[in-house]
Order: sequence, then C-alpha cells, then structure tokens
Amino acid sequence: MEAQQLLNNYSAFKVEEIKGRYLSYEMIVDYLKNLPAYFNLKIEGTSVLSENIYSIEFGNGPKKILMWSQMHGNESTTTKAVLDLLEYIVTDQNDDFKNSVLEFCTIKIILVLNPDGLKNYTRVNAKEVDLNRDSSNQTQPESQLLRKVFDEFQPEYAFNLHDQRTIFSAGKQNKPATVSFLAPAYNEAREVNKVRKKAMQIIIAMNNYLQTVIPGQVGRYDDSFNINCVGDYFQNRGASTILFEAGHFANDYDREETRKYIFLSLYYGLVEIITSDYKNQNISDYDKIPENEKLFYDIIIKNAEVNGVIKDVAIQYEENLRSNRLHWIPKLQGVGDFEEFFAHNTVNAKNKILRINGVKNFENETYIEEISLNNEIFSIKLTNS
Ligand SMILES: [Zn+2]
Repeated sequence: MEAQQLLNNYSAFKVEEIKGRYLSYEMIVDYLKNLPAYFNLKIEGTSVLSENIYSIEFGNGPKKILMWSQMHGNESTTTKAVLDLLEYIVTDQNDDFKNSVLEFCTIKIILVLNPDGLKNYTRVNAKEVDLNRDSSNQTQPESQLLRKVFDEFQPEYAFNLHDQRTIFSAGKQNKPATVSFLAPAYNEAREVNKVRKKAMQIIIAMNNYLQTVIPGQVGRYDDSFNINCVGDYFQNRGASTILFEAGHFANDYDREETRKYIFLSLYYGLVEIITSDYKNQNISDYDKIPENEKLFYDIIIKNAEVNGVIKDVAIQYEENLRSNRLHWIPKLQGVGDFEEFFAHNTVNAKNKILRINGVKNFENETYIEEISLNNEIFSIKLTNS
C-alpha cells in the first residue's frame, strides 16, 4: 500500500492509548498479553531490577527477522511504532501484508529491552551501563539476554530500534532528520560484504518510500566501527543489521508524528524482505542519503541585545522526569553567531534586550525558568501530554 494511504488511514491501527515520550511499561505488557494466539509471548529473562523482559514471535516463514526496541530506556518512539505494526497486522483486512508476513517471515521482537531505563527515563540501564556499548563485554543481564535470543533465533535480518536527539539535520540543510538509518560496519575497514550489502539495499528502499511523504528528512549515520555496539557485532556475526533512529518532526516533541514514519519504515522494510525487491537496489545510492549533521537547536533567538551587543542565543531542551511526568527544561547553549545553524523554533528579538531569569548577564548552560525581551516575558516551556 502507498505511504500516503497508510498515513491517511493511520488512526485505524494506531495504538492510541500508548502515547507520548514517557510510556507505561505495564500498558505495553498488557497490550502484548492481549494479542491473538498466533503471537507467541515469552518472558526471555529479567532486568537488573527484576522486571520481566518479553519477546513476541509470530509467523511461520523462512525469513527470520529479529527486532528490539528501547535498549536505551528513554527512546520510546520505535516501541510505539512496533505496537502500531502489530495492530496493523491484527486488524489488516484489505492488504495482503498480514498473510505475507505470516507465510514468509518468522519475526521475533523484544519490545523494550531495558524496562528499568524506560521506568526511570534513562538511556542507561539500572547499573548505569549503556547497553549499546556492552555488546562484546556482556556485563549486563539485558545484554546477555539479547545475545542469547540472537544465538537461539539466528536471524537473517536484525532491526536495532532507537531514538535520536533533536539536534540532527539530514545533511547540511534546514531539514530535521526525522528518520535516520545505518547499515553498521562489520569490520574496521568498513567493507561491504554480502550481509551488509543487504542491509544497505533495504535502507535505500525504505528511504525511497519515505521520500514520498517526508522529502529531504531522512539521514544516514556515519559507519565508524565499534564491536561494542550491538549493531556492528550482529552485522559481524552474519545478520543483515539495520539501525533505525526516530528523530524530530516539526513541533512534535511527543514524537507522535515520527512514530508514523518509523511504522512506515518497518512496514516497507518487511515488504522488501518478503518480496526481495531490495536486491535490485544499487548500493551506490546508499551514499546519496545525506549524512546526519548536528545543525539544529530547539530554539534560536535572533537579534537579541545581550550586554549591549546584538547577538543570537541558542537554546536546547533537556528532558527531565519529575513525579512521573516528563518535562522539557530549556537550557542556554550559547550566545553569539548561529548563522550556520537551524532551529525548530526561531524567534526574532528585533534588537530588544534579552533577560534570562531576570538578569541581562547570564552564564552559559543556565536553565531557563523565565525569559523576556524588553521586560516582556514569553514562554518557551514545554509540557508533556
Ligand atoms: Zn539509542
């Protein structure tokens, strides 16, 4: 089905009750427990803080695909997109997607590899280890669990599902990287073997579909090799591995729009695997996807008078969980010339005097409680849904 058609029809299969950036693990597990019987739900093990970690497996086909989301606990967008994908399969009536998936694929998904990180809204696990730097050392129960599942399941394809920060542009242009991909390197020389080539070809195909709905908003990560990163490790072990990164879209800090583009990526990734159409892609097109650049701030205030001089002021939100609610705290990143940068929100101060927290003279990295131009206070705070 065409991308725009899927977007138009999104509400029919969106798992509406699970939304925002800070998700309820209990609601996710409840959703999984209520899936039809052809989804095999299994407890694969437990986290540092003894939370159950679940996988679901479905389909009876020869193409084996392993996915895992939220190995970084505060990266929830892909979890939402996977839920929508499951719901799409459950409710699918008029697309032969469901039947093809069940006939040609066996899919295993670890939904939320790092439930402790989800609950605390942290990237790291409860022992403060970044699980994506623990692939070779295997010091954490969550890393060991993922490895065990990989070894038992022996996937041909692996989808490594993440979120990226709002700072990324797709290339050197005023376009946020709403979705970014990487076919990780499997060795220091970053060679392209048969395994990695397949991952690159699937990325090219997914990018082509995404360009029809978010032109210019797909980026590519650089491929420096690190065997401690799980994607590099799995690519090295022979599974065609793709890194998916959910990024920023317009003012969508809850990433309810981005979840749709991750859904489309997953949907078309599977379609391409089922049909093998991706094999027609020329890998020289992989390098044509623009590389991610760090060219965005959340807010740039242009032409503000700071200490008697007209300057630009760059601000970035810091996400903060307080009493079970997520807040975005604006933090000053710099005062100067930000001509080369872009912002998700730009304010023209028209030479008015800027005060932060009531003072004209402020330190870098100040958390912004209050901001004013010529004593007129305006709000840049964000609240969660
Ligand atoms: Zn991540």
